[in-house]
Amino acid sequence: MEKRSAELFERGKRHIPGGVNSPVRAYGAVGRTPRFIRSAKGARITDEDGNEMIDYVCSWGPGILGSAHPRVIRAVQKACGDGLTFGAPTEKEVELAEMISELVPSMEVSRLVNSGTEAVMSAIRAARGYTGRDKIIKFRGCYHGHADGLLVKAGSAALTTSVPDSAGVPDSVAENTLIADFNDEVSVAELFLANSGKIAAVIVEPVPANMGVVLPKWPFLTFLRDITNRNGTLLIFDEVITGFRLGLGGAQEYYKIRPDLTTLGKIVGGGMPLGAYGGRREIMNMVSPAGPVYQAGTLSGNPIAVTAGLETLRILKEDPEIYTRLEYRAKMLAEAAVEAGGDSISVNRLGSLMSIFFRSGGVNDYEQAAGSDTKAYADYFGYMLDHGIYLAPSQFEAMFVSDAHTEEDILKTCEVMQSYLQTI
Ligand SMILES: *Cc1c(COP(=O)(O)O)cnc(C)c1O
Repeated sequence: MEKRSAELFERGKRHIPGGVNSPVRAYGAVGRTPRFIRSAKGARITDEDGNEMIDYVCSWGPGILGSAHPRVIRAVQKACGDGLTFGAPTEKEVELAEMISELVPSMEVSRLVNSGTEAVMSAIRAARGYTGRDKIIKFRGCYHGHADGLLVKAGSAALTTSVPDSAGVPDSVAENTLIADFNDEVSVAELFLANSGKIAAVIVEPVPANMGVVLPKWPFLTFLRDITNRNGTLLIFDEVITGFRLGLGGAQEYYKIRPDLTTLGKIVGGGMPLGAYGGRREIMNMVSPAGPVYQAGTLSGNPIAVTAGLETLRILKEDPEIYTRLEYRAKMLAEAAVEAGGDSISVNRLGSLMSIFFRSGGVNDYEQAAGSDTKAYADYFGYMLDHGIYLAPSQFEAMFVSDAHTEEDILKTCEVMQSYLQTI
């Protein structure tokens, strides 16, 4: 039953572009009616028709503790009583900056913003300000939010030209973004050769999770650290998804690589709109009012968002066993998928991040991810949805496991998943 969702979608389309406030929510890639959500608690999400589902979207990553964790809700309710916004510094912002630099030591100094997009946009500005250079390198299939300079794809002469990947992005902006291939060292080296002394930063999702989950092949990230060091270029890890998910110290702790700048979002806000960027002190001290790189925000460091983020990080820090549980449960899901799907699928997983690609032979880069059978994914998605399992409505989004998923939830999910995958 999706009667009320269908009605709301039609009503929404009259005054909201495509009926939704972020495109993937419209279920365009899976040909279904988007579920309008009434509430979510723990690992359960309930739509407006009263369907209760096991949630593996987790709001696209923030929900590492599941929805509405009682401690986070209590902290937020208390903070609301003290006022929603002051536009002035607060003690909790200082505490959050201290907590971030304790858990992610490369982030010696950090600035709070309102989203992952803003964090990335601002980190790039800081990198350009610090290096005095304009060009950046990004990787095909990595997503870094919707700032102009990041909605860019390779042109036909990939080495020299980049073109907008969205209407409304000027060519003149796209020109400064060079496109390389993830896990392909040669593609990066060639861009450095052709643009010697001009590259301010390389930005990368250390574990890409926006083309589905793709794992870095050793020593790709080490190679990026070395080539950026040799060229006076900054290395930016976009850890908006991986931060506090692959462990308290994110992907940089897992792979033992210290980037110059890091961007955070999703988990750092504990379910509220919050992002952060930070890194080496001398770079971050370029940011206004300490330095000449302007960046500001009326609601930046908003006390409610900071409270939700801080309480979430405290819970994660107090109970590191959370990551052991996440690993164990996600592993059960991945193994069940492989067992039932065999060679028809490729499963990538790291910690509680995973993807089932509908193609055989493994997925290690954008080309292979893009070669997946998206119709097959849509069919799988629909079956899971109809059996109470709420997955991302796109082959190219990750499946997120939270600490609220019980072993029973996982077993039920494995059962439904296997009953589908056995038939393909
Ligand atoms: C989600 C995401 C962003 C953008 O964050 P928003 O809060 O949606 O603006 C940036 N980078 C990565 C890696 C993301 O997954």
